[in-house]
Amino acid sequence: HAKAAGKNSYLIYDSEMDAAGLDRLTLETDLRRAMERDELVLYYQPQVNTRTGAVEGAEALMRWMHPEQGLIPPFRFIPLAEEMGLIGEMGDWAIREACMQVQRFREQGLVLPRVAVNVSALQFTPSFVRKVKDILEETAVDPSVLQLELTEGVVMGDTHASVNALSELREMGVSLSIDDFGTGYSSLSYLSRFPLTELKIDRSFVIAADKSEEDASLVIAIIAMARGLGLDVVAEGVETSEQYHFISEHGGTVIQGYLFSAPVPVDEFADLLRPWHFVRQLQDLDGNARQ
Ligand code: C2E
Ligand code: MG
Ligand code: MG
Ligand code: MG
Repeated sequence: HAKAAGKNSYLIYDSEMDAAGLDRLTLETDLRRAMERDELVLYYQPQVNTRTGAVEGAEALMRWMHPEQGLIPPFRFIPLAEEMGLIGEMGDWAIREACMQVQRFREQGLVLPRVAVNVSALQFTPSFVRKVKDILEETAVDPSVLQLELTEGVVMGDTHASVNALSELREMGVSLSIDDFGTGYSSLSYLSRFPLTELKIDRSFVIAADKSEEDASLVIAIIAMARGLGLDVVAEGVETSEQYHFISEHGGTVIQGYLFSAPVPVDEFADLLRPWHFVRQLQDLDGNARQ
């Protein structure tokens, strides 16, 4: 009954609704069915070790294959999913799908050492740890292959509960990364209190490092701090050879960005997992630096 009332209240405002409102309403209706209709997909973006050219891992990024509108990027539907209370289900699906994909790769003789999945703050509920555990057991994926990308907002909600949940995940062997590092507002003290394994330097810093001394100093400091804390560090959004050189010269060894590949569908990603795929590109990059 509540649903019917909700529908009627939409109808009342129908005449006043502008194009954006209508578009949003259509998306909401469609998003409710997207999971059962199998319209969500994961794209994969490689994280490349700049010393060896190896693909150390991949970030799995959600896309919505809308039957009429085509490929819809996350910024258009993740916030909607969060508002509509669908993100938990969708996020769990992403973790399961990424784990299943690791096993499919394995069957094809391809090794993806690590897969990173984004976790929304609203998905990080008391039952989250149990769900991750179930997924790992169901899919028989080694927990050390799974990395969860959390934002500062996710871990800062209820810090006591977060520390416990993250510790459990860490004890299972799951890796824990802080996404978009440096863009939140939390104090740095959480870095030593939470059992993290990685910092991802936000793209905005990588871009700015090219342009200003101050931002360059920030990136250098983040890399040094990660080192000091024993955390891995991934530079996100590296697009140019200048950015590549800046990061690698300051000790950043893992890079994720369009320079190497945009997020791609799984079949295309399989090609990137071939040994030596990035080695030649790195030789070119490093050769150019010496000229
Ligand atoms: P994010 O987790 O920070 O993911 C990185 C974003 O940067 C991706 O955008 C990726 O395509 C983009 N990116 C990577 N390298 C470059 C580059 O060199 N240049 C540029 N311009 N962009 C680059 P995408 O795939 O559109 O995802 C946007 C955001 O949506 C993600 O940011 C994440 O916060 C969210 N998201 C995506 N998939 C999921 C999911 O399964 N669950 C949740 N909760 N959030 C997701
Ligand atoms: Mg991410
Ligand atoms: Mg990020
Ligand atoms: Mg980001």
